Amino acid sequence: MCIFCSIVNKKIPANIVKEDEEFIAFKDINPKAKTHLLVIPKVHSENFQMTEPETIAKVSSFIQALAKEKNIENNYKIQINNGEKAGQEVMHLHFHILSNEAI
Ligand code: AMP
Repeated sequence: MCIFCSIVNKKIPANIVKEDEEFIAFKDINPKAKTHLLVIPKVHSENFQMTEPETIAKVSSFIQALAKEKNIENNYKIQINNGEKAGQEVMHLHFHILSNEAI
């Protein structure tokens, strides 16, 4: 089982900030900004390229709601590393949400 699937299944701890039936957001263990969250689909998908467009559409709403709830809706960046050559280390699709505002 991959490390992010273990977080989804609560086999390893994570600082979870939002969760619904399909997605989960938690704090990055090695933050690169004041706020650094990772948003992942609960169903394993290796990377952005291999993910159904429907899932990508749905995650957009989840990220928008998350940003609003955490009051960073006017101040965040989204980063996706797709593939090892692009710096992807964890092979479970994740969206980096980075803000220079603390949540
Ligand atoms: P990437 O290089 O795009 O694959 O990013 C993987 C991210 O996952 C890195 O920013 C790591 O700090 C983060 N990470 C790895 N393991 C954990 C974990 N157990 N809990 C939270 N974040 C993690």
